[in-house]
Amino acid sequence: MEAAENGGTPRAATLSRSDIPGAQRLVIKVGSSSLTRPDGHLDLGAVGRLTKTIAAARGRGQEVVLVSSGAQAAAMGPLGLKCKPRTLSGAQAAASVGQGLLIAEYTRQFAELGYIVGQVLLTAEDVLRRTNYKNARRALDTLLSLGVIPIVNENDTVATDEIRFGDNDKLAALTAHLVHADALVLLTDVDALYDKNPRLPDAARVRSIRSFSEAERLDVGTRGTAFGTGGMITKIQAAAMSMSSGVPVLLTSAQNAGAALAGEEVGTWFEATASRLPARQLWLAYAADIRGQILVDEGAARAVADRNASLLPAGVVGSEGEFIAGDAVEIVAPDGAIVARGLAGFSSPRIPQIAGLSMAGVEETLGERYAHEVVHRDELVVMARHRRVR
Ligand code: GLU
Repeated sequence: MEAAENGGTPRAATLSRSDIPGAQRLVIKVGSSSLTRPDGHLDLGAVGRLTKTIAAARGRGQEVVLVSSGAQAAAMGPLGLKCKPRTLSGAQAAASVGQGLLIAEYTRQFAELGYIVGQVLLTAEDVLRRTNYKNARRALDTLLSLGVIPIVNENDTVATDEIRFGDNDKLAALTAHLVHADALVLLTDVDALYDKNPRLPDAARVRSIRSFSEAERLDVGTRGTAFGTGGMITKIQAAAMSMSSGVPVLLTSAQNAGAALAGEEVGTWFEATASRLPARQLWLAYAADIRGQILVDEGAARAVADRNASLLPAGVVGSEGEFIAGDAVEIVAPDGAIVARGLAGFSSPRIPQIAGLSMAGVEETLGERYAHEVVHRDELVVMARHRRVR
């Protein structure tokens, strides 16, 4: 899904892959399968290789924020689980046990190399609410200024099904946004993206992706191939999200981490686009769980899409789905195209009561406290118009 570039702030020229060794601030994300053994215990050797690589970057004067998964996976062995828990409460419990093991191992191994780590557990709300965002940002900045290596994970033990990242790829993209990283390095178990199933003899590594549309084509292209797992799709979405926040991404394997940080020609490089969308808009465009649709007339669709205006009751013709105020919804034009995503100012049962009314009309019908935008422009991201898939 492509967010049109509205509301972004310009950013200075971005890096290329070979500039990584000179980048001031990096966010490095590593996945569970790169850190744990099939028996559900931490792979101490893998943790060791990663800590040495990161310590080398710190030795060069680079600041590193590590986004590490592996909490739930590392709890499977100790708890005698055969697979990752499928229920929310099971995942919460596993994360609670495994996060301690994970951070203890990082603390021990980084200490041997002379570095202090700090655990940072974030919820989606910490990144999306303006005051929490600033708070999280201050905490991370302070840790970095103290020379600490922050190790971030989602606070799975308290996350709810409604509002959670679920995968650390998007968390990493938003963390890179939060700390104004120069680049994001996503470490996984494949060395790069390929233009077709990498087991085919003529499969070629995709060296770089320069635009949203290239990323999106790739997303579609990878579905149904042997490596087009959900895992890879979330990585591409996270990379697209990061591109829109002005942060380039290198996607490669954990084994290639050293080569990646040395600026060698490995992995797939996603170039940053020129603008930096606010975090809330990034979330809306790429990660939010859409609860319904607000149907609007052509005038309102144009005002929202072309002038980045708020959606007012007068332009609303109806709604689909059930949502409450604050839920993420799509704004749909009369031709069925999604023009924007935003946070609803009204619940779905209220929509027929306000549809087509002026503000004065809403005030008269429902009272003063209802006389507000249906979607406020600050809580809206304009999408490149595309048809809704029903
Ligand atoms: N936060 C989860 C964990 O540490 C991992 C999420 C993911 O796999 O991306 O277990």
